[in-house]
Amino acid sequence: LTQLYAPLNFLGFVYREIKHALADMERMFDLMEQGQEVADQPDARNLKTNQASIEFEHVDFGYEDKRQILFDVSLTIPAGKTLAVVGASGAGKSTLSRLLFRFYDVTAGAIKINGTDVRNLTQTSLRQHIGIVPQDTVLFNDSILYNIAYGNPLATQDEIIQAARAASIHDFIMGLPDGYQTQVGERGLKLSGGEKQRVAIARTLLKNPPILIFDEATSALDTRTERSIQDELNQIAKDRTTLIIAHRLSTIVEADEILVLDHGKVLERGAHRELLEQRGRYAQMWALQQAGHNGEPD
Ligand code: ADP
Ligand code: MG
Repeated sequence: LTQLYAPLNFLGFVYREIKHALADMERMFDLMEQGQEVADQPDARNLKTNQASIEFEHVDFGYEDKRQILFDVSLTIPAGKTLAVVGASGAGKSTLSRLLFRFYDVTAGAIKINGTDVRNLTQTSLRQHIGIVPQDTVLFNDSILYNIAYGNPLATQDEIIQAARAASIHDFIMGLPDGYQTQVGERGLKLSGGEKQRVAIARTLLKNPPILIFDEATSALDTRTERSIQDELNQIAKDRTTLIIAHRLSTIVEADEILVLDHGKVLERGAHRELLEQRGRYAQMWALQQAGHNGEPD
């Protein structure tokens, strides 16, 4: 792990030690926090595609034996499409994204990408194909530049700035005393939740993966910033396979399919219009949010 923390050398703005940088950030969190159990099969294949379809087939899962979290969850995201997941907090939404990233293996059923079970893929190749903007972004104790460029070790300075602009964080960075060289993280400048989310968004834009996961990716942003970034996220999600865990329903109206998760089970599914017509839980959440409440029934 220490080697992941060691600062990578710059050659201009291009990293020399590409090898190190290929290790994935999210993977590191897993190693640190969750004492991961998953391992590559001896004959694991490398995923290599820019058109990824995703399937959850009858997935059961629990973090502990005693307590099941997901019950028979099936879903399909065709390549290039967007699936949104909504539901009360604790329903199991983030767990779906952790399973897709293979922080954990399912207890029953399967998760497949282009028809291949993720358990038969190498973890490194799987994770290279997925960009996550998580609920809580943890930054490296390094420069803000490093934290953004982490998404793509080969990025040029122009590309880094372009990603930062798109994530509405460039102007903020330019206002810092050391600009892009400003040290952030626990031992440096503390960024707000919204600023960290924007760093994570810039990093993901730069990584440019075929699969995107936004886990309440804009929840810490004010409504105005959220709107401007949302346009950008919609733009990059356009031709990518995207799983959005939604905080504000207004951000997922256009999703190809919306899935309502309730206590780990799929309660409703369909497009926005269809769900409104069903007058069930989704319609109820929508009405509450339109009226200015947060829409989490409890
Ligand atoms: P959501 O994202 O919908 O708010 P999560 O998927 O994060 O919900 O969590 C679903 C359930 O799993 C919650 O009851 C939560 O307490 C539990 N949970 C989440 N992470 C862990 C973990 N690492 N170990 C044990 N239980 C967990
Ligand atoms: Mg969550």
